[in-house]
Parts: sequence; structure tokens; C-alpha cells
Amino acid sequence: MLTEAQREIIEQLADELYRNQPALAFTGAGISTESGIPDYRGPDGLWSKQNPTRFRDFLTDLEVRRRYWQRWRERYPLLARTQPNAGHRALARLQAAGYLREIITQNIDGLHQKAGSDPSLVIELHGTAHQIRCLDCGARWPAEEFDPGPEGTVPDCPLCGGLVKEATVSFGESLDKDTLRRALELAETAAVLLVVGTSLSVYPAAYVPRRALRGGASLAVVNYEPTPVDNQARYVLYAPAGPALDELASLLTG
Ligand SMILES: [Zn+2]
Repeated sequence: MLTEAQREIIEQLADELYRNQPALAFTGAGISTESGIPDYRGPDGLWSKQNPTRFRDFLTDLEVRRRYWQRWRERYPLLARTQPNAGHRALARLQAAGYLREIITQNIDGLHQKAGSDPSLVIELHGTAHQIRCLDCGARWPAEEFDPGPEGTVPDCPLCGGLVKEATVSFGESLDKDTLRRALELAETAAVLLVVGTSLSVYPAAYVPRRALRGGASLAVVNYEPTPVDNQARYVLYAPAGPALDELASLLTG
């Protein structure tokens, strides 16, 4: 699945990870497509952004909230069953062996943690679909245990009566400031940044590699298609994440 030229690049990258610390990863939808979660931009994505729920509409329109929760009842059980793939497992192996520190992700699927990454080392810029949160009092519940009530109804916070939704960043909603700040600070102090499965089209998340470059990091890009930072990257692999990262982790961890 990998070409000889790609294997050579992966060997050079492994050598850099061996010598140069700390390394971080920055992941996007492309690392989860091999787990059956389509890219947001795909035509029939399970979590398609074709018709995203706008945050403002969610806040102001009961009918929008009704549709949101109806889709949640249909979709969450599928996400809960989704399994990590070779790419997620390879990053977890690199972390366990000390070659990789934090993983900053744009994904909400929780697959890095399912693959064995320490949750405290996974920074979820766009939140997580595995928790429900109250927009008013901030209370959170595991999505798996959350009962949204009968079909056609909209759940309220059992503690304060406020609006509840997935603990993800909706279209038109700001990212959590502290989470973004932590990600950018880590990026700035990284020696190596592995960019995996993201075309860097969504801001402000796409500032992460730019901040890393500004801090002097070596950049490695593993993605199906070109990204805006390829010309500044030391290593560029137009390859599926699973085989490429598996090769990388195997070189370093045996
Ligand atoms: Zn509440």
C-alpha cells in the first residue's frame, strides 16, 4: 500500500522522532475514515456537515432541537460501536513508547482514547460526542448513559432545566478558549508536529501547524491530498494514515 519512496520518507521521519523531542500529533477526519467514519465533506457523511445544526438556531428554535435529538437517537449508537484503526493504534503505541506526547485532534469520535491513548494527552479541539453537556450550568453526562426521553421530545438538564446538547462545537459556536490556548502553546514548543488526516481547512484549528512552524518545529504531513503547509513541511506523505503510521510505529517500537 506504501510506495518505496514513501517508506524512505517514513524511515527519515522515524529517525527524527528518535532524535528530536517533544513530538505532537495533530489529527483530523482523515485518520478516522478507515474506521468507517466518513470525512465531514463526503456526500453522505454520517456526521455530514451538509446540513449542520447552526448553534444560534439550536438555541432559539425548538423545532431545530427536536430534529437534532432525533438524529442523535439514530446516530449515537453507531458512533458508540465504532472501533479505532491502525492509525489510532500506531499513535497510541508511539505515546506509550515515549516518542509522542500529546495528540491534538479535530475529531469528536473518541477513537484515540479507545485505541489506548491516555485521555489526559488527547486534546479535543471540537469537543467530544461521548458526553452530553448543559449549556447553562455546565453539567456533563456520559452520552452512553444519557436518556434523551421518548422519540419526538427534547431533553432538558435534569439539574437546572437548561438546554443540553452533545459536548461538541457546533457550526457557529466558538471553540473552548482554554483548550485552544493549550493546543497552540503545545504546538509552539513542539520539536516535531505530525499532521495526520486533515486538510487544514477549518480555522482556528488550522493555526496549530502554523504555530508549530513559527516555534521552529519540523513538520510531517500524512494526508490523502495536499495541504496549505506542505511546502513548509520536511516530510510529506500522500498516503492513508493507517498503513503510514503503522509503519512508523513499527520502525520505532518493533
Ligand atoms: Zn444545567
